[in-house]
Amino acid sequence: MPESDRQSMVEQVRAMGIRDRRVLKAMGRVRRHLFIPDKFRRGDSYGNHPLPIGYDQTISQPYIVAYMTEKMNVRPGEKILEIGTGSGYQAAILAELGAQVYSVETIRGLAEHASAVLKEEGYHSVKVRHGNGNQGWAEHAPYDVILVTCAPATVPEALTGQLREGGRMILPVGGYRQHLVILRKSKGKIEQQDDLPVRFVPMV
Ligand code: SAH
Repeated sequence: MPESDRQSMVEQVRAMGIRDRRVLKAMGRVRRHLFIPDKFRRGDSYGNHPLPIGYDQTISQPYIVAYMTEKMNVRPGEKILEIGTGSGYQAAILAELGAQVYSVETIRGLAEHASAVLKEEGYHSVKVRHGNGNQGWAEHAPYDVILVTCAPATVPEALTGQLREGGRMILPVGGYRQHLVILRKSKGKIEQQDDLPVRFVPMV
């Protein structure tokens, strides 16, 4: 049953160290299984692992979604840029936290699928654009938070340029070996801190 599976998923990410109650509540509300296209949906939509969503792409592992979201400490009303919409699941979690989300996806079929599910599920505060995210989405900049779910080799300058003063950004960086990097823009300067080792698809 999706509801009980979802509660077990929340318990699992909590047991793994996610403490922010707003994040846990959002994870308990978003119907993750519906973000996985029919063709790929099996019985394990709420397992703590990534799953295929077509086009050789995956929906991220619940723990990593929760972890990145918690690290960004998203407040209601904040404006967020996501690069790598994929299934739309991460965007839905951010919308549950009350954020206005702009998400860019390079694969048209995924952008369309995510956009349709987000609309059906009532996440009207998410706008999805088909395009290359390495240039960000200048029209809506600056952003309070930028969250990237595909890995560039180095931090793209176009993205840090679209961060508001006091804004924060989290992204996986690297090639075969990657780690999360957390940045903060303070007095026009970027402070950078390395975090967990991770494994994401490369940013194209
Ligand atoms: N956040 C997603 C998981 C994304 S997987 C979710 O919740 O389901 C990473 C996604 O990044 C893939 O869909 C891939 O197509 C996309 N991607 C890769 N390079 C990109 C780029 N340069 N611009 C935008 N999206 C990109």
